[in-house]
Amino acid sequence: MKTLRRTADAPADLGIGVIGVPEGSPVELDLKLEAVGEGVLVTGTAVVALAGECTRCLRPISDTMEIDIQELFYYPGNEPDDEAARNEAELINLEPVLRDAVVLDLPFAPLCQEDCLGICPICGADLNDDPDHGHDEEGDPRWGTLKQWSATQD
Ligand SMILES: [Zn+2]
Ligand SMILES: [Zn+2]
Repeated sequence: MKTLRRTADAPADLGIGVIGVPEGSPVELDLKLEAVGEGVLVTGTAVVALAGECTRCLRPISDTMEIDIQELFYYPGNEPDDEAARNEAELINLEPVLRDAVVLDLPFAPLCQEDCLGICPICGADLNDDPDHGHDEEGDPRWGTLKQWSATQD
């Protein structure tokens, strides 16, 4: 049994529209390679960086995600000989495995926080910053802030 610990660059297009792994960001692999009858069993974890956007408030999200990997790579021709073992490095192509695992684990509607309040449907203000915000005679609260700010400049 061998262990494989290394950092690889993330391939392009690893993710779904709203969130994904930035291309070239470090992917930390911590894997065990175990020769079994018909191939090499690879188990372990990959830690990837995530970048995306909250689907409620559109704030940028950056996070990390740990992915469990378990995959059996078959020897070509099912011949478990020394040559096959020597070709292990070429045999084990983790990219498709990583791709499948990442895409399966990604949230379809990522949130900056579980109870994100989203944005105001009227003015688009971030309700996380201003949960009590409402629309009445005072008008848009963002303009109120701007007015205060210009008042302090005089
Ligand atoms: Zn949010
Ligand atoms: Zn509003």
